Amino acid sequence: MSDSPRTAQPLPSGSDLPIPWHLRLPRPLEGDFIRYLLQFSRSIIISSVTVILLLYAATLLVESSVSVALLEQNWRLRLFSFIPVAAVWWLAYTDEHPQLLQPAIAVTALTIAATHNYTAFSTDHPLAYIYYIGSILPILLMATIFRISLYWALSVSLLILTILIIFLAVDHRVHVSLSAAIFFLVSASALLSLVGHYFFERLQRQHFLAERVLAMHRNELHSANQALASEANEDALTGAVNRRGMAVRLGSLIHHARQNQQLGQLYVILFDIDFFKQFNDAYGHPAGDDCLKQITDVPISMIRSDKDFVARYGGEEFIVVLSGIQENDAVMFAERLRTRIEQLGIEHSGSRANNVVTISIGITGLVAGITRSEEMIKRADEALYEAKGAGRNKTIYLDEDGTFKHI
Ligand code: GH3
Ligand code: MG
Ligand code: MG
Repeated sequence: MSDSPRTAQPLPSGSDLPIPWHLRLPRPLEGDFIRYLLQFSRSIIISSVTVILLLYAATLLVESSVSVALLEQNWRLRLFSFIPVAAVWWLAYTDEHPQLLQPAIAVTALTIAATHNYTAFSTDHPLAYIYYIGSILPILLMATIFRISLYWALSVSLLILTILIIFLAVDHRVHVSLSAAIFFLVSASALLSLVGHYFFERLQRQHFLAERVLAMHRNELHSANQALASEANEDALTGAVNRRGMAVRLGSLIHHARQNQQLGQLYVILFDIDFFKQFNDAYGHPAGDDCLKQITDVPISMIRSDKDFVARYGGEEFIVVLSGIQENDAVMFAERLRTRIEQLGIEHSGSRANNVVTISIGITGLVAGITRSEEMIKRADEALYEAKGAGRNKTIYLDEDGTFKHI
C-alpha cells in the first residue's frame, strides 16, 4: 500500500478558533471586539434612540390628555430620562468617545426602568402596576437594539430586576400575587433576551475573529507579493534595479517621452569600472563585491526624481536613467558621477588609469527614430567604448548628430 499523498495544512479560517464559554477574548482582542461591536451598531443606535426620544414626547402627550395632574407629576421624570437618552444619541452620532457608549447605554436602560417603576409607585391610578411591566423594555432594548456587550446587559438587567423588586415590595397597593406575576414576567423576558444575546454575541465574536484572520492572511499575502515583485526586479548584490527591471522601466519612459514629445529630456548613462578584472586579481573577489556596492551607492544618492533609477546592467557595468532633464544638466550629472566615484578613493594599484578606482562613462539622449531601450543602450555603449579608447576615466557624450563629445 502506498502512503497517502501529503496534504497541505489548511490555513486557519477564524471559525476554527474556539470562543471560550464566557466569551471573553484575550486582552487587546477584547478591546478591538468592543470597538467593532459598537461600530457595527452605531447606525442602529442612532435611529432607535431617535425613536425613543419621539416615544418620550408621545408619552408626554398621552399623559397630558389622560390627566393634567399626571403630566404635572411626570414631566420632570420624563425630562430626567431624556438626558441619558440624548447623551447616547450624541455619543453614537459624533463617535467621539466610543469607550463611553456602553456605560451611557447602561445608564439609559437603568434610568428608563427606574422612572417607569417610580411612576407606578407615585401614580394613584388603578392600572399603575402597568408601569412596572415597562422594565422589560430597557432589558430588551439593550440586547436587541443597542447590542451592548453581554456583560453590560447582564449586570444592568440584574440591577433593573433588583430595582423592580424594591418598588414592588414597597408599593402596598399591588397584591403579592400580582407582584410575583409581574416579577416572573419581567425575569422570564430578561432571561430569554439574555440567552438570545449570548448566542448572538458568540456568533459576532466568531465573525470578528474570522475577519481578523482574513485580514492577516491578506496582509501577509500582500507583503509577500510585494517582496517577490521587488526581488524579481532587484539586483541581489547591489540593490540596484536588475537588467529585467531596467528594460521594463526604460521602455516605458521611452514610450512616455515619445508620446509627450519630450525627446530631449530622457538620458541614459552607461558606465563601466576601469580595469576591474585587475582589481579582483589584486584584492580578491569579496573586496570586488564590496567595491561594486560602494560604487552603486554614489548614483543612487545623486538621483532626485522617482522616475530616475540606477540599474546593474552587467557584472561591473551600470546604467543611470534620468528623465525630465535638459541636455546640459544630464551631461553635468554624468561628469559629476565620474568625479565622485574617483573621489571615493578606493585604492586600485592595478589600474593604468589612476591609483584609485575610476569609471568610464558613455551618455546619450533619446533621439528621433529610437523606440526601444536596447537601441538607446547601444548608443550609450558606443560612447562608452570611445571613453575606454580615449584612456578611460572619461565621460563621452554621443549627441543627436552622432558626434562624440569629450566632457
Ligand atoms: P575595462 O577597463 O576594459 O573595463 O577592464 P575590466 O577589467 O574592467 O573589464 P572586463 O570586462 O574584462 O572585466 C570585468 C570584470 O568584472 C571581470 C569580472 O571578474 C568582474 N566582475 C564581474 N561581475 C563581478 C562581481 O559580481 N563581483 C566581482 N567581484 N567581480 C565581478
Ligand atoms: Mg570594466
Ligand atoms: Mg565590463
